[in-house]
Amino acid sequence: MSKLTLAQLNDWAVKFRDVINENREYLTALDAEIGDADHGSNMARGTTAAAEKLLADPPATVSAFGKTVGMTLVSTVGGASGPLFGTLFLRFGTTAGDVTELDGAALLAALEAGVNGVQARGKAEPGDKTMVDVLVPALAELKTQLDGGADLKTALQQTAVASATAKDATKPLVAKKGRASYLGERSAGHIDPGSASTAILFETLAAAVA
Ligand code: ADP
Ligand code: MG
Repeated sequence: MSKLTLAQLNDWAVKFRDVINENREYLTALDAEIGDADHGSNMARGTTAAAEKLLADPPATVSAFGKTVGMTLVSTVGGASGPLFGTLFLRFGTTAGDVTELDGAALLAALEAGVNGVQARGKAEPGDKTMVDVLVPALAELKTQLDGGADLKTALQQTAVASATAKDATKPLVAKKGRASYLGERSAGHIDPGSASTAILFETLAAAVA
């Protein structure tokens, strides 16, 4: 089976920065509808700082990659999304360990640990209209693809497609966690901003491997 290299992981973080920055106004507009209009600037700041650190001091292991990206997101993002995306990358790195590449099973295990960390920290369940609504179905799709024998590239492309669908599916939901939950029923009818960023996370992972 094909493997995800450290160079591709670094490329993922750079592409994540680029596409987040391209969508900065869109993400902020989503957050203006059900939050406090800072999600685009929060994510742009965090992903830009993380990519700069990786480029200035390239990590030697997947563990170091996760630590650099995770710590930078935690310390620079500011909003609720910072510690959550940060936890995802920190757990991803510690679970992957001191290796320089990941096969499909190792990638899935690292992402699963990351998503479990997000849920442990944020206490959101699927259906609460948070990034968990994209993270959980994305991982389920990745697992289905890999179990079915798909190569990494195809599996990640399908994961990106599933993520985009899951992001759109947050629109009718009523928020149960985070700032949007203060709106109650009025949070329905808007895509969750953190779910939109998470769809970009998987879109750029697929692009880094393509
Ligand atoms: P803030 O809400 O502090 O302004 P951001 O605007 O950067 O932070 O991020 C908001 C996003 O964070 C939401 O759209 C949602 O996806 C995510 N989020 C908020 N709270 C939680 C939580 N408890 N669990 C998971 N995700 C959450
Ligand atoms: Mg916000």
